[in-house]
Parts: sequence; structure tokens; C-alpha cells
Amino acid sequence: MAMIKALLILLLSYTTTTLAQKPTCQSKGLTRCPATAPFYNPDIYTNGLFRIVETTQCPPYNNPGWTNPAEACIFKMEYKLPLTPKMAKQPIPVGEKLTVFENITYLKEDPAPILGALGVFTNGVNIYGVGSPCGYSSKCPDQGAPSKWVDAVESEGHTVDTCGGHAAPSLHYHIHSGIGLTNNNGRKACNFTEDTPDHHSALLGWLFDGYGLYGRYSDGGKLPTDLDSCGGHTHSIDGADIYHYHMPDAYPWTIGCYTGCPEVSNNPRELSFVTTGPYGCT
Ligand SMILES: [Zn+2]
Ligand SMILES: [Zn+2]
Repeated sequence: MAMIKALLILLLSYTTTTLAQKPTCQSKGLTRCPATAPFYNPDIYTNGLFRIVETTQCPPYNNPGWTNPAEACIFKMEYKLPLTPKMAKQPIPVGEKLTVFENITYLKEDPAPILGALGVFTNGVNIYGVGSPCGYSSKCPDQGAPSKWVDAVESEGHTVDTCGGHAAPSLHYHIHSGIGLTNNNGRKACNFTEDTPDHHSALLGWLFDGYGLYGRYSDGGKLPTDLDSCGGHTHSIDGADIYHYHMPDAYPWTIGCYTGCPEVSNNPRELSFVTTGPYGCT
């Protein structure tokens, strides 16, 4: 009897600890993103100055993995993407590589990686950058870590769904990389435009500087060979020469830096620094 009691107490304390570690929408007074259809799709329109993306930040697809590591909740947001992007005087860092330690890429602490959204996908899901706090992931070593920032895709990759997304401890759903979007089947299931073979990849989203983010392939379906350090280049798309980024399938997964001045109101806590210093973004 005592043995059973001890086992019960053990089981109970295990369950409570596990549940306590998992934040829920309800416990924070929020509404959970729908688990089944109908899903939310973003409202996208322009107002002369900006392309506006009205989103719930919820994934517009069934997402069985979304409670790992946290639940995805509704956060209504209007992202503003400049229609006439302004080039920064120098590239704006979003998460710089420091070194590789125990097969995980570590990022510099100065400048610290930008956390939260760097942009928004065409399906309304947040584009997050490469940085994640060391220790949040089970793959981060207890001792000897060369920095407190790690590559989120390498360290948290085991928690993402088939679209490459998961929710942060803040309960915001997001995607760090296009690994789940490299083939057209993946694209379709995640509500993205599919690529046409032997053509330039389709548009997947926009960074907060207003520049577009496309899939891996450039003209003729070939891998681009002229990308700058931020992961972008300029050439003719739909008859106009435009600067745009391509999404790589390795570090830094989205952009290496912002080429243009990001609209600060989209993520003020993390982006305010661009208005001072050498970037020329006022
Ligand atoms: Zn993440
Ligand atoms: Zn291109």
C-alpha cells in the first residue's frame, strides 16, 4: 500500500511539473489557435505607404505538433511593410555566427540576435530569425557553451511541425527556416505558393524592411550565386529590377542581415536600435 502511495505521489508530482512547464493560452487569458479548419488567413492590402498584413499569427493549417514546446495562441497584429524600402547605410545584424561547439552553431552575444519576428510569411505566420537562448533547448550543453545564443533550427529543430513551425514560450507561433517548404507538397500543406520547376522560386513572405523573401531558386530554377551577406540580390522579377532575399537551407535559414531599414513598430523592443547608430534609419 505504501509503495502504491509513493508511486502515486511520484506520478502526480511528475504530471504537475510537466504541465507547469508548459504554458497554455487559457492560463494567460488568450485564445488558442484553431486546431482544425476553418483556419485564419491573413488579410493583405496596401495603403499607399505600406503593405499591411493583418494576421492572428496563427498557422493556417492543421498543426499536430504545436503543443511542443508550447501552445499557439491568437495574437492579432497588423504588420507594416514599407512599399518603398529604404536601403540602410550598412547591413543591420540579426544574428551573427560565432563558432560551432558540440555540433551546434553559437551566435555572437554582441551584437545580440534579434528575437521575435523579423518579418511575416504570405500565410500570416511570423518569420523568426536564427537566434534562440541557450538552455531553452535540450541540446544546449550545461557547461562550456561559448555563448548564450544558439542556432534555433539546430537546437530546437526536434520540436517543429512539418511546416517548420512551433510556438515560443511566449505562445507566439513562428517559423525559423524553410526546411519544411523545400518541396511543393510541403508548400501546399502549409498554404504557400508552390514553385514552378526551372523558374525563379515563388514569394514566401516579406521582411520588415519591405523586401520580399523567396524560396531557394533564382532564374531558371538555379541556385543563386551572387547573393550578398544578407542573402539578397537584385534582378528582374515580373519585369522590374528589385532587391529581394532568397531562403537558404542552412544557417542563417532566412536572412543574414537586413539590407533595408526595418519598420520598427512591428517589433519595437528588438528593432529600436536601428534608429540610432550607423544605419541611417531614422
Ligand atoms: Zn522557435
Ligand atoms: Zn532572385
